[in-house]
Amino acid sequence: MERLREAGVTPTMQRLAILAFLENTKLHPTADEVYAAVHKEHPTIARATVYNTLDALTRAGAILRLSVDPSAARYDADLGPHVHFRCRLCGRVIDLEVETTNCLSRQVEGHHVEAVRTYAFGVCSSCQCEREQVPQRDGRLPAAYSGEPRRGKKREEGDCA
Ligand SMILES: [Zn+2]
Ligand SMILES: [Zn+2]
Repeated sequence: MERLREAGVTPTMQRLAILAFLENTKLHPTADEVYAAVHKEHPTIARATVYNTLDALTRAGAILRLSVDPSAARYDADLGPHVHFRCRLCGRVIDLEVETTNCLSRQVEGHHVEAVRTYAFGVCSSCQCEREQVPQRDGRLPAAYSGEPRRGKKREEGDCA
């Protein structure tokens, strides 16, 4: 509620639902994915409402718009320092808790840096496992990828079998 007010957005049930959905996902959804999810709970919500709300929240700095995916903007309500990693095979955007920078909140060449956003690209742990089983990939989505992060225990090295 406060986050919406600070963003200059009148808090409505629909807008609260948009922000709540973003705050509870780690999938960095596109605007269309936000719309699809919120529409389930609020069938009367307009696509334009979702787009406008995401825009207003982004402009106000209440959420992040990520340009890590060339095909669509993605959104993140987690403003903490973290790196976004995009898998070039399955397209997932994953949070990496790595040391992002050593120049956070300090003067750099006379400029005061408040935040550094870094994107990382490569092949995620799940896709690496699949590649070991199917050596020659043709760039298609792995069959096992459903758009949801894999559940259960975290995969570790040597955990591919
Ligand atoms: Zn992947
Ligand atoms: Zn994130």
